[in-house]
Amino acid sequence: MNLKDKIRVISDFPKEGIRFKDITTLLKDGQALRETIEQLALLAEEMQPDIVVGPEARGFVIGTPLAYHMGKGFVPIRKKGKLPCETLKGEYKLEYGTDALEIHKDALEPGQKVVIADDLLATGGTIETCINLVEQAGAQVVGVIFLIELTYLSGREVLHDYAVKSLIKF
Ligand code: 5GP
Repeated sequence: MNLKDKIRVISDFPKEGIRFKDITTLLKDGQALRETIEQLALLAEEMQPDIVVGPEARGFVIGTPLAYHMGKGFVPIRKKGKLPCETLKGEYKLEYGTDALEIHKDALEPGQKVVIADDLLATGGTIETCINLVEQAGAQVVGVIFLIELTYLSGREVLHDYAVKSLIKF
């Protein structure tokens, strides 16, 4: 199956000039969803992780079934104020000001090998913050996995110290 054909591109969302890659059309197709997770798992298994980490919200949609498929656990990274227990924080830049992502302080073991999964790599800012959180926790990022990579935004360059793999490129 051509998984790229299952992704719908919406012009001028969330603002003018952006061509948003809508993954909901892929997710609702059972065969496409299964193939997506199986193919992502092949990429992730090469990295030999102990556990999978994914950022809110579409990183949960990709990361949790990926972890389940590999028989590994899943750890969420959330926007600030959402996690109930003690957290580590990582700031990231927005167009105006900053926001923060959080991970539970006790979610990862020191030295644990982590694969970070998200739906899409654009500028790399989100994943850079996720890497920072995983490393603050003392764990080791063995790779980063995306369903989609926007190659024209060169997010891969921001992540040059890490193994980066993606299934579909635009
Ligand atoms: P970055 O931090 O790499 O610039 O942006 C990536 C984050 O923004 C991802 O978490 C992703 O969910 C979201 N994102 C940015 N553009 C798109 C898009 O076109 N489609 C989807 N599905 N998510 C996007």
